[in-house]
Amino acid sequence: MKKIGIIGPGAVGSCITVQLLTTEHKVYLIGRRNACITYQDPSKNVNMTLNVVTASDITEPLDIIFIAVKIPHLDGLYKQINHLTQDTTIVILAQNGYGQHFKLPFQNMYQAVTYISGQKTDQHVIHFRDEILHLQQDDNTESLKKTLASSGLSLVLHKNIEVEIWYKLLVNLAINTVTALGIQPASILKQPHIYSLCVSLLKEGYIIAKHSGINFSEDVIDEIMTIYQGYPDDMGTSMYYDVLANTPLEIDGIQGFLYRQARKYKLTTPHLDTIYALLLSRHHVFSNNS
Ligand code: NAP
Repeated sequence: MKKIGIIGPGAVGSCITVQLLTTEHKVYLIGRRNACITYQDPSKNVNMTLNVVTASDITEPLDIIFIAVKIPHLDGLYKQINHLTQDTTIVILAQNGYGQHFKLPFQNMYQAVTYISGQKTDQHVIHFRDEILHLQQDDNTESLKKTLASSGLSLVLHKNIEVEIWYKLLVNLAINTVTALGIQPASILKQPHIYSLCVSLLKEGYIIAKHSGINFSEDVIDEIMTIYQGYPDDMGTSMYYDVLANTPLEIDGIQGFLYRQARKYKLTTPHLDTIYALLLSRHHVFSNNS
């Protein structure tokens, strides 16, 4: 039996917890405070209550940790949970974005590409679809996959996870930006100027990826625009919901990461530079308010 902790009792963390509760392992859902949250998965007719404990309630080291807090909440997290780890603990960062590793200098840490869709409102989580994490393939993740084989969580292992991480970064880049800055859900894509802004952002993202060693086919831009067009009009993005909730934005790991890569390779990225400045100013207002 393994001891598993999930940090962040939100949409992603609660879903991971529910998938693991059916296994023989000891599972802790860890939040900033003790609480009870309700979890609903209408497609599977699941309604349950989850107990949330704090990291200081746990005195034994854990074998596996999933981190599912939003990017601005990583600050200070290392100190909060370091006592839960030992040399062999596998830490999975189940977040969007990239480049957050340095905030969590754990020995065996893996950036997951997270395909879990849900939303937390107050103390209630609704899960919409998917329970999939993509990870780099190695001995640790092969063994993790075996350990969690009886759970509802799908682990997909890749020879080069960077490609998956960058693909999700590009998918998040344009749609998160226009929904957050335009304060409208996916219907905003119907506006021709917004549509071309998305294409321009994706073109810049494609070039940044290329200079960073990730060679997508040029078709990736059309492919992502086609994905966007499949979104229901009323679908929001996490950054759109963060704007509505006046909470800090996850720009550091998405637009900010790409912006820093563009500077590193001295690339000209006028659309990214503009939207990054605007998002950053919004982020500062929300950070100062929170
Ligand atoms: P969320 O619903 O806001 O949940 C985050 C949770 O983390 C909140 O319950 C928050 O607690 C908790 N938290 C913050 N700081 C903490 C700390 N120091 N210790 C313990 N818990 C802490 O966020 P989410 O939607 O699950 O997103 C998590 C990550 O997954 C993000 O990077 C997001 O972009 C990514 N993602 C989300 C989705 C989705 O559909 N939701 C899909 C793919 C990827 P409080 O309640 O106290 O604030």
